[in-house]
Amino acid sequence: MTKIGFIGVGNMGGPMARNLVQAGHELAAFDLDEEKLNLVVQVGARRAASVADAVAGAEMVVTMLPAGGHVRAVYTGEDGVIAASAAGTLLIDSSTIDVDSARAAHAAAAAAGFEMIDAPVSGGVGGAEAGTLTFMCGGTAAAFARAKPILDIMGGNIFHAGDAGAGQVAKICNNMILGAAMIVTGEAFTLGQRLGLDAQSLFDIVKTASGQTWALTSYCPVPGPVPTSPANRDYQPGFTVEMMAKDLRLAQDAAQGAKLATPLGAAALAAYSLFEGAGNAQMDFSGIIKMLQGEG
Ligand code: NAD
Repeated sequence: MTKIGFIGVGNMGGPMARNLVQAGHELAAFDLDEEKLNLVVQVGARRAASVADAVAGAEMVVTMLPAGGHVRAVYTGEDGVIAASAAGTLLIDSSTIDVDSARAAHAAAAAAGFEMIDAPVSGGVGGAEAGTLTFMCGGTAAAFARAKPILDIMGGNIFHAGDAGAGQVAKICNNMILGAAMIVTGEAFTLGQRLGLDAQSLFDIVKTASGQTWALTSYCPVPGPVPTSPANRDYQPGFTVEMMAKDLRLAQDAAQGAKLATPLGAAALAAYSLFEGAGNAQMDFSGIIKMLQGEG
């Protein structure tokens, strides 16, 4: 049994925290949103009154927050994670944030003598509930080894990507591939159908040909071929347009910082931003096909 402080129990953090409680760990949870906090208190977490209260006596601290600014504030603020944690506490940040903020959090943690990993996830709310998330971790091998048994409870695939910030780098690279692949898959289905090709027929062929991608086989953007894909439920998320745009923005910011052009990543961000701005922020990201078809 490990004493864990968990900060940020929203759509993802809530079910992740629940899995830790159900595995027998002692959890103190904190969130600014009382309703979200109630949901994890109901399954056995202790209600913490502040960040400092959540980390008091904890051996590990998990954060699952919206963006880099939140992580910086929660880590380095007065009575934040670094100020209030006991020596030896392992810090695990699973938020998806910019690489600079992740490295700043690592540096602040190291300066205060704490081991830390950045450990963003993929797999969505379904993966968080099922405990099958993929974790992409950055930090020392020793910190990763300490975190692994806890990550194993919340996830199915746990990767040590490299040093500080490497988990965030892996995450934004993966989602840049996914975002661009989903658009071109949508373009292909729109073109195929416009030229008279049946969607199921196109799917069956491409699935076994060189155009095969996860966007096609697991998340096909037209209704029919993949019964579990959001296209079959009018593009209810899943993974929202807003989140995809956020991750593509993080990738573009990182590319600019590295003085690197990623033209398809940039084009994907422009397309999702347009679709997001047209009132589709909460639609599943595969719904971008509607824009390609001249709708939405
Ligand atoms: P969410 O908004 O549901 O949860 C974030 C929680 O953090 C909220 O409950 C909020 O009240 C809380 N919070 C914000 N500032 C706080 C503070 N200072 N102290 C305490 N609590 C604070 O978001 P989410 O969907 O759970 O996503 C969390 C992270 O996971 C994001 O970085 C997101 O990009 C990433 N992510 C989300 C998904 C997904 O499908 N939802 C998938 C992969 C990764």
